[in-house]
Amino acid sequence: MQFQALGCSGSIGNGHNTTSFLIDDDILIDAGSGLGTLSLDAMCKIDHVFLSHSHIDHVALLPLLADATLSLRSKPIVVHATKPTLDSLSDHVFNWEVYPDFREIISDGHPAVNFSVIEPNKPVSIGGRHLTGIPVEHTVPTVAYHLAGGDGSLVVATDMTISDKFWPVVNAIDDLRYLLIESAFQEARLGLCQDSGHLCPSMLRSELLKLERPAEIFVVHMKSSAEDNIRREIAALDIIYEIRFLADGDILAL
Ligand SMILES: [Zn+2]
Ligand SMILES: [Zn+2]
Repeated sequence: MQFQALGCSGSIGNGHNTTSFLIDDDILIDAGSGLGTLSLDAMCKIDHVFLSHSHIDHVALLPLLADATLSLRSKPIVVHATKPTLDSLSDHVFNWEVYPDFREIISDGHPAVNFSVIEPNKPVSIGGRHLTGIPVEHTVPTVAYHLAGGDGSLVVATDMTISDKFWPVVNAIDDLRYLLIESAFQEARLGLCQDSGHLCPSMLRSELLKLERPAEIFVVHMKSSAEDNIRREIAALDIIYEIRFLADGDILAL
């Protein structure tokens, strides 16, 4: 299995793109601006989009994906998310004002997209790949995703703040291999992190102290404007784990 970061930044600028991860060539986790780096041919291969939450840096290009591929696909794109996230998309994006409701736009006998509600902590299996939404704390209902079915498991937690109920679920993943976790802001923005449901380096450290099994840890979702400070502050953390930084375009094999 291949997991590619099309975008894993917390904001755009300086060539960075926001959250979108491609699993093999047909499953997407989030549809931030990183999705726009794919060719049209590659976009047409995406059959499933799993959304972590409704924030624009994670859903911005979903309507544009539906529009770009509608006449080129033989079946709908299935959008998987929790009910609050899908309700938010229905109310605020696919509402015929911001953009058409692509569930109602038919081409060659099929709609552009279908919605599929996921339940927290219940896996959805697609061709041997298993994705499970794990609830995390953020300002709106949000899940991290546990990706299983390959050589080890991957958990990607973007976005989140202090999330006590998240860690027992992660600690129960026997074959955990990769943990991708956010640090959106620098230490000077601790108050903003608390207000906006994110982590800064000291909060990341306190969260990682709850991790009870080895994993390769990668930081994601850094704000472009604060990246240098975040990297410096994480490098200076007193913690046993080696912490690396995922970059747009990076591929993890599992
Ligand atoms: Zn968010
Ligand atoms: Zn975000």
